[in-house]
Amino acid sequence: MKKDAKFATRAVHAGESHCKETGALRVPIYQSSTFVFESAEQGARRFAGEEPGYIYTRLGNPTQTALEKKMADLEGGEAAIAVASGMAAVSGVVLALLQAGDHMIASDTLYGCTHALFAEMLPKWNIEVDFIDMTEISNIKAAIKPNTKVIYTETPANPTLTLVDLESLANIAKEHQNITTVVDNTFMSPYLQNPIALGIDVVIHSATKYIGGHGDTIAGIIVGPQELIDIIRMTTIKDIGGIIAPFDAFLLLRGLKTLTVRIDRINENAMQVAKFLKNHPAVDKVYYPGLPDHPQHELAKKQQRGFGGVIAFELKDGLDAGRQLMNTVNLCILAVSLGDVDTLIQHPASMTHSVVPQEEREAAGITDGLVRLSVGIEHVEDIIADLQQALDQLV
Ligand SMILES: *Cc1c(COP(=O)(O)O)cnc(C)c1O
Repeated sequence: MKKDAKFATRAVHAGESHCKETGALRVPIYQSSTFVFESAEQGARRFAGEEPGYIYTRLGNPTQTALEKKMADLEGGEAAIAVASGMAAVSGVVLALLQAGDHMIASDTLYGCTHALFAEMLPKWNIEVDFIDMTEISNIKAAIKPNTKVIYTETPANPTLTLVDLESLANIAKEHQNITTVVDNTFMSPYLQNPIALGIDVVIHSATKYIGGHGDTIAGIIVGPQELIDIIRMTTIKDIGGIIAPFDAFLLLRGLKTLTVRIDRINENAMQVAKFLKNHPAVDKVYYPGLPDHPQHELAKKQQRGFGGVIAFELKDGLDAGRQLMNTVNLCILAVSLGDVDTLIQHPASMTHSVVPQEEREAAGITDGLVRLSVGIEHVEDIIADLQQALDQLV
């Protein structure tokens, strides 16, 4: 592969080499817990870090290495580590970067379990977290304290699709030597947005979503500077143990090969579905950064290469209408998660974000009537026809 190969080419080829021994096209699933040393001396050299090579799968595995190389390449970072889940990625990063007495600034709209980790668990270790509205960039500047070590955000945010200006955020953080910026890039995948190119230090993915893409794996990825990834690998991942299984690493390598074709189709479908929803009389509001009247449409065009597949919308009759809608769709599947080839529909207030207290939910725009749709790769006319028959029953 040429060094300047385009993204779609890198998604297929980066990080992988054919097996020299067998000629196998695909990276094998190295289903082995441990690796054999040729001698006691070699084992000692490997443990001392004086000789490259595998030791034990909790410390690394060749299938995992191929995935990590591919993801570092696609996100434009120095190194990556693949882990057991998106939450293992979130906790692995913040626990490596923060210690008792430190302060973190986080967005007020975050994935529900990320919010729970930050609001309920981190304070147990005397780590202080302030949740702020980062759509207004001056709020970030105002929240920085002498002990601020991390600024953490998601853009577009789950589930309200609000955006944070990543370049401005990175510039503010760079004025302070001790601050590391972390972005959860799950909604965009590396194909649609690369925070590191905008000056962000660390990128996190729930690889369960677009990277896997087929609803069959839970996994996470962290991409960032080599030094930090080495620390995470040898501390929070090695000692807390949220490692990826070789088979899951294989599924993600496979998922990444079709990332661009899946997302091209998803982008087209989602745009048409968003326009359809906007014109339906049962729908009050549609939140999709691809619509020209989305308040951050210009920012989306600036920092993203597409608008993605997640749409949030509000029904005129609120919660009851939402419940009825979810019980009358046929093709759209009632399930949490997103980024799959199938179109999924869910109700954040009672499902993914039920762990966030109601008051905080509403302050972050997650009303009881909000419905989240993750548009899949089915034929768009079938997706729209299904939503139409269900929505028509509400008017
Ligand atoms: C799903 C999700 C997570 C958590 O990922 P898991 O793989 O379920 O642990 C984190 N962030 C975002 C934005 C998500 O959508």
